Order: sequence, then C-alpha cells, then structure tokens
Amino acid sequence: MARVHNFSAGPAALPLPVLEEIQQELVDYRGCGMSVLEMSHRSQAYAQIIDDAEATLRRIIGIPDTYRVLFLQGGATLQFAGIPLNLMRRGRAGYVVSGHFAKLAWQEAARYGDARMLATSEDTGFDRIPDLSRIREQARDLDYVYICQNNTIFGTMFHALPDTGDTPLVADVSSCFLSMPLDIERYGLVYAGAQKNAGPAGVTVVIVREDLIGEGPALECCPTYMSYRRQADAKSMMNTPNTFGIYVCGKVFRWVEQQGGLKAMAQTNSEKARILYDVLDASEVFRPFAEPASRSIANVTFRCATPELDAAFIEGARGRGIEGVKAHRLTGGMRASIYNAVSLDGVKALAAYMQDFEESRRSN
Ligand SMILES: *Cc1c(COP(=O)(O)O)cnc(C)c1O
Repeated sequence: MARVHNFSAGPAALPLPVLEEIQQELVDYRGCGMSVLEMSHRSQAYAQIIDDAEATLRRIIGIPDTYRVLFLQGGATLQFAGIPLNLMRRGRAGYVVSGHFAKLAWQEAARYGDARMLATSEDTGFDRIPDLSRIREQARDLDYVYICQNNTIFGTMFHALPDTGDTPLVADVSSCFLSMPLDIERYGLVYAGAQKNAGPAGVTVVIVREDLIGEGPALECCPTYMSYRRQADAKSMMNTPNTFGIYVCGKVFRWVEQQGGLKAMAQTNSEKARILYDVLDASEVFRPFAEPASRSIANVTFRCATPELDAAFIEGARGRGIEGVKAHRLTGGMRASIYNAVSLDGVKALAAYMQDFEESRRSN
C-alpha cells in the first residue's frame, strides 16, 4: 500500500485508521449482515450511528443543549441561501467579504434581503482579514453578521472573532472546523462542509442556537428542506440523509477525540503551519501569499516568482509522493492544506522538498 502525502484542499485527506475501520465494516456492518451503504436510515442500527456522531461532536466541541446540530446536504454552498432564508427576520444582515466563498455568500444573501458588505479585503487581493474595528457599531439592528472564518483559497484566517455586540455571529468554518477549539457560544450559527476536515463530501454540519430558528424560517419562500426548524425537529432525517457520509464523519469525530480533542489538534496544526511559514519566511524563491497577521493554520498559500517555477515545483512534488499542492486558480501558485489528517511527517516531507527546491534554484 502506497499512500501519498495529500495536501488537497477538499475533498481532502482522511485519517488512515478511519479508512481502515470503514474497510473492515464495509460488507457486514457489525453483524447486521449488510453494509451501511445498504441500510435504511430508519433502522435501529442507523439511529445509533447518527446519534453517536452527534454525541461525539457535542463532546469534542462542548456544544450545550441550547444549540442544535444538523447534518445536511448541498454543501457549504446551499447554506449561503439557507442562512438568509432562516435568519433574516428583519431583512438585513452584514457580511465581511474576506474571500471568494464569503463573496458568494454575500451575493446569494442579497437575493433574499438587504445584505450589506461591512468590510472587504478585495482591494488587496484577499491577502488579509479586513479591519473590523467598526463592526460592533455596524452590526446594530442587523439580523446577523456573517464571516468566513478561514479563507480556504487565500490562506487567511480570523485570529480573533469580531465583536458584534448582541447581533448573532454566523460563520462558515468549513476549512477550520475541528482544527482548533470552537467557542460555540460566541456564535449564533456555524456551519462546515465536511469534506475539508471532518469527513467526505456530501455532508454539511450546521450548529445553530435554537432560539434563532424559532417557529420556522424567516422567509416564507424557504424550501422545506432548508428549514432549520424542520430539520432540527426531524433530527436531520426529514428525508434520506447522506447516511454513509454521516457514518464516516462520526468516525472522524471519534478519531479527533482519541487524538486528544480540539486542543491537541490545534497544537499539532500550529506546529505544522509554523514549519511551513518558517521555510517561506527564510526563502528567496517562495513568497507567502497571506499577510503575516492573517495567516491560516489550515491552508498555507505561496508562490514562486514565475508561473513556470510554480509548475516545476508542483511537478517535482509528485516524485516525492506529495500531491494536491496546486493552488486554486484564483490565486495561482501553491497551497498546502494541512488539515488534521495530514501528519507532521507529511508536512516535514513537504518542507524538506521546498528546501531542496530552493537549493536547486539558487545554485542554478
Ligand atoms: C470549500 C468551501 C466552500 C464550498 O463548499 P461546497 O461544499 O463545495 O459547497 C465554502 N466555504 C469554504 C470556507 C470552503 O472551504
């Protein structure tokens, strides 16, 4: 078996013990005589799987009973609509446009109400988190303030949450979910597409403060599927959920717990990020993309002086068993996504390759 060092931004690396456990259980799930893939979502065995997944997630994050946990489909993208449909009760919300996905969310929300851009870093190519010193004042009388906490494409991250006063904070945490502790009570709602750090594609975890979902969605036109109220009442089983995806997420949650939980994850992830940023800061060949104060611990973005050099770096990585380092087309260059399942050894292998590449360029 040859496994590569997978730095893909998502779908992304999963922990090997999780994959192996799935493999073992795949054909006959714990004596049920059938696979989870073949099992009714209304069966006893499946009820146990989804309940366990939720309970484990509640333990590792520390989610109080005042919040509901939903396992939905449609990716993070469907939540761009789901959030205004459910939460825009007064018809106005504020958006911090710190990257591509934040901008898409803002544009989608504008279809349903007054979606105000509170701050943006687009003028500097989304290389930083914008200044948010006025946010508390701006947030007054809004239904919510929306942020994308880790900007997957640009490699930037909020290192402090904005102070929105009494206005609920809503965050897309897709690419930093389970990478570090999450102080859930600072938020009205967080959501994450699982395929970055929590499981396979096809599951979106939504954690929402119950009082915000009230009797139902803010907007009449909200599709039944997208009603957080309905989904919460039906325990994410209003219709057939992504049964297999939720099963895999549950295993990843357990793995995180066994590794020591979110604090341990944060420690290792910070260490992994530091190794790469140290190489970048000492380099004459690579340039880090993100402003130092906004650097992500999940996605490390960088490039060389020319696209030809970038291509040579990406091509050479293959030979070292390093995959997935080509960046998104919006930035070009390279991106190393160093999610939980990417090991310290994998990051050291990438750092060693970067240093060798640098040597070879300097001696040219
Ligand atoms: C990947 C990603 C998305 C889009 O996710 P889909 O599941 O493909 O819709 C949105 N936001 C962030 C922060 C992401 O990383």
